[in-house]
Amino acid sequence: MVRAPLDIRNRYTQGGGALPTGDCMSDRLSRLFETIEARRDELVSLTQDLIRIPTINPPGQAYLEICEYLRDRLARRQFEIEFIRAFDTPGDSEAFPRWNIIARREGAHPGQCVHFNSHTDVVETGRDWTVDPFGGDLIGEGIYGRGACDMKGGMAASIIAAEVFVDLFPDFAGAVEISGTADEETGGFGGVAYLAERGYFAPERVQHVIIPEPLNKDSICLGHRGVWWAEIETRGEIAHGSMPFLGDCAVRHMGAVLQEMEETLYPSLAEKRTEMPVIPKGARQSTLNINSLHGGQDEPAADFTGLPSPCVPDSARMVIDRRFLIEERLEDVQQEIEDVLERVKARRPKFDYAIREIQHVIPSMTERDAPIVRAVAQGIETVLGQAPEYVVSPGTYDQKHIDRIGRLKNCIAYGPGILELAHKPDEYVLVGDMITAAKVMGQSLVDLLLPS
Ligand SMILES: [Zn+2]
Repeated sequence: MVRAPLDIRNRYTQGGGALPTGDCMSDRLSRLFETIEARRDELVSLTQDLIRIPTINPPGQAYLEICEYLRDRLARRQFEIEFIRAFDTPGDSEAFPRWNIIARREGAHPGQCVHFNSHTDVVETGRDWTVDPFGGDLIGEGIYGRGACDMKGGMAASIIAAEVFVDLFPDFAGAVEISGTADEETGGFGGVAYLAERGYFAPERVQHVIIPEPLNKDSICLGHRGVWWAEIETRGEIAHGSMPFLGDCAVRHMGAVLQEMEETLYPSLAEKRTEMPVIPKGARQSTLNINSLHGGQDEPAADFTGLPSPCVPDSARMVIDRRFLIEERLEDVQQEIEDVLERVKARRPKFDYAIREIQHVIPSMTERDAPIVRAVAQGIETVLGQAPEYVVSPGTYDQKHIDRIGRLKNCIAYGPGILELAHKPDEYVLVGDMITAAKVMGQSLVDLLLPS
């Protein structure tokens, strides 16, 4: 049930009953929320500044520029700054170096570390924009631009939350970290994966992680489904196209594979349901996309004026994108495809195939009673007056590296912005949603780092 949002001052004083958190807590939250609201203009200009740095990936440009911007801002608040270049990761070059930043502010006492991780890269703009994609225009209540929603708005909200928290409560325990990392849109190998491999997300250094991806201000994203990307090749034998019986057509073999998938694989995938609360609901099952299909001669270049030659194709290749559930094992997912190919082989005498894995990601889902989940849920209840929605992302994001490489399970995605706007033309984020998310993040810091 949804209740109307309540003013925090009223909430903690109405009814006369003492709340378990006490007056001290209510006073802290009132000051926190008032200060965040007072910094509304600053939140807007910070978001605009971030959008105006065109960190398009690929190729992965302006990473150093955005890290320097964040350094200049956070160093003023006594954050210790570290720049880490992910040398020799995919795409790293002198022209497009993969720079990352970690900013850490220690509290006055020992304690735990809460880390906000945002990716700095944005995808290409594409067509059909009606505003400048790197203008950061404020129109009505929305800030527009590539990355406004995914995820510079979330990054700005987390920075304002952290700054207000350290300003108001400099005697906090533990540490607050903010990272800006590269290449999330292309797999995160030059960003979070690189940092996780070097211990930056090890449980002894960081205990709580919030990734402010645009999963909506009232939802906590616990994780994501798994991925298996593979290329399937069918093999035949080349011959003259006028005498195809002398060769063996790899494209016809691939046709047989597709038919077998339609008849047996797709129906069985549709029946595999999950307990993961994936959004949208259509993704609450196993899915398979065929990303690409190619057989025979390469497509000619657009300016090529010649004719193709008559050949029987000796190779056809298909790239598949299989998304799997926490209830499934990667080995079974792989075996299922091999079984499809073996069934085809059993009835086509000359059929031959190869499977090559491109990448895999194991599903990740943080427990609902994990400390970071409880803290953010409490924040949503206070700020929005309603219980959070728990969701799981249909696709992956950097949580995979924090979980698998960093061995840190206490990680969620929570941030402002509407997921459906990500990567679209005229992408925007609402200022009010950023304020709300900043309050929730700020309250989480109070919960986790301030002794009561
Ligand atoms: Zn994102």
